[in-house]
Amino acid sequence: MPTLCLLRLSSMDRLPVIRETGHVFTETLLKDLSMSKYKCSVCGYVYNSEEGDLDSGIAAGTLFENLPDDWKCPICGAPKGAFEKME
Ligand SMILES: [Zn+2]
Repeated sequence: MPTLCLLRLSSMDRLPVIRETGHVFTETLLKDLSMSKYKCSVCGYVYNSEEGDLDSGIAAGTLFENLPDDWKCPICGAPKGAFEKME
C-alpha cells in the first residue's frame, strides 16, 4: 500500500523516495528507447523500433514489446519468440 507508506513517512523522508523513483523511471524509459533493437535469430533481420515495420503496418516508434503477438519477421516469417534483444 504505497499511500499508507507515504503517509507514515515524515516529509523529510518522503522527498528522497520520490526523487529516487523518478530517477529510476527516467533511466528505464531512456534505456527502453535506446535499446529497442531486436534481431531475428533465424535470418538476422533487425527490428528497429525507430523505423517500425511499415510493410506489416507497424508504425515507426513502435517498441518491439508492443508489436502484436502475431507479428512475424518480415524476411523469414519467424515468430516474435525467435527474436533476441540486441545489447
Ligand atoms: Zn527472420
